[in-house]
Amino acid sequence: MMPSVMRKTPPPENSEAELLALEREYCSFGDTVHYLEHPKIFERCEGSFLYDAAGTPFFDLQMWYSACNLGYANPQVNQAVKNQLDKLPQIASQYLHREKIELAAKLAQGIEKRFGEKGRIHFNVGGSQAVEDSLKLVRNFKGGKSLVFAFEGGYHGRTLGASAITSSYRYRRRFGHFDRAHFIPFPYHFRGAPKGMSKEEYGLHCVKSFERLFETEYYGVWDAKAKECEYAAFYIEPIQGTGGYVIPPKNYFTELKKVLDKYGILLVCDEIQMGFYRTGKLFSIEHFGVKPDIIIFGKALTNGLNPLSGVWAREALINPEIFPPGSTHSTFASNPLGTAAGLETLKILESGDYENLVMKKGAYFLEGLKDLQKRFKIIGDVDGLGMALRVEICGADGFTPDKEMTDRIVDEAMKGDIKIAGKNYGLVLDIGGYYKNVITLAPALTIGYEEIDLALNLLAEVFRRAAR
Ligand code: PMP
Repeated sequence: MMPSVMRKTPPPENSEAELLALEREYCSFGDTVHYLEHPKIFERCEGSFLYDAAGTPFFDLQMWYSACNLGYANPQVNQAVKNQLDKLPQIASQYLHREKIELAAKLAQGIEKRFGEKGRIHFNVGGSQAVEDSLKLVRNFKGGKSLVFAFEGGYHGRTLGASAITSSYRYRRRFGHFDRAHFIPFPYHFRGAPKGMSKEEYGLHCVKSFERLFETEYYGVWDAKAKECEYAAFYIEPIQGTGGYVIPPKNYFTELKKVLDKYGILLVCDEIQMGFYRTGKLFSIEHFGVKPDIIIFGKALTNGLNPLSGVWAREALINPEIFPPGSTHSTFASNPLGTAAGLETLKILESGDYENLVMKKGAYFLEGLKDLQKRFKIIGDVDGLGMALRVEICGADGFTPDKEMTDRIVDEAMKGDIKIAGKNYGLVLDIGGYYKNVITLAPALTIGYEEIDLALNLLAEVFRRAAR
């Protein structure tokens, strides 16, 4: 007879109501969960979908703010992490491992191929931390100069240094000062251009108003005698992320770069949200034909599987003499699970013709959004570059931002009760924009055309419900 095994009964799982009660008591409200009145608990994810406890699929059109470009639980990236778990899951950051070296080399070589510039990679854990590292690189290279330009509507993270160069005072208000950036208007044509001005004309117009700052010392940034600018760098997101997926005029950055070069200002490109083929390029700045001095990346590098971020800087800013050992450090920077996930993600992106695919699928999705704009008066603007798409919700004049309507759309989407072909769906949407009235769409790059049709049908239904 087999010996009887004492089986422990597993403790009963907390019900959803119990979990929410525990959360209310023990989780800090300082993150963004309680932006929603009724935070939602999800149980499972796959491809473009999150599933709640009842098994209702929620079509995710924001993919963890563009961190999961290759779909949730991507089997290939998951497998790479499982393999790494069995091989070398942990190692202190003063030692080397193969995946870190190969990932850094792949990224630096990819950047060199695209921009013709040799550089190096420094890894960290989250986007904000990589932004902090970039600030060190800038200050170090520019002899301690700590001021930078950044954009109105820009977002670079919530650590102290990153929120100082992020436009919202809301993120800084209670935490003291840390060299706040000088915020420059982004060329947001839909909201900012005078009537009748084309996108290109507006691009030029915006660069001219920035360049005016250098006309005389009395505008506060330029010492004409010393020929020196008080500002070390300009921090940009080529396509604004949290700012509402705002796509600048094609000529804007080439013209801006001429001004930066003229006055000795570094160009730092934050690709944390738009990187890794979100816009059909490895980095979105490639659409605009300029060469940054520093590129910052995170999120989709690991398909959102394990935190990893980093900066690339050109050799002059990051060579071992100018940025020697110990210049910065974090225990979990270049962690092996993250670098293994990153390597696999790059492998998939390189082998999949994403440049083409993303542009095609993005154009198809955008056409669908344009059709919706014709059907629903609440849509003031739609736009997109690759699979970074925007729907701006406005009042009857097609321009006045309608935040309340936008909130209603997101609430309807979260109910999970939209019936399509006899099945209930929900929609996961993210709100961005200067007036919190832009639905920023970042679907999985792996999405199929039928799925895009489904997403458009779901969007149509939430627009219909919210607008009635
Ligand atoms: N920069 C940009 C452009 C971002 O979109 C984000 C995150 N939304 C960050 C920086 C900050 O990254 P993290 O949240 O990983 O700190």
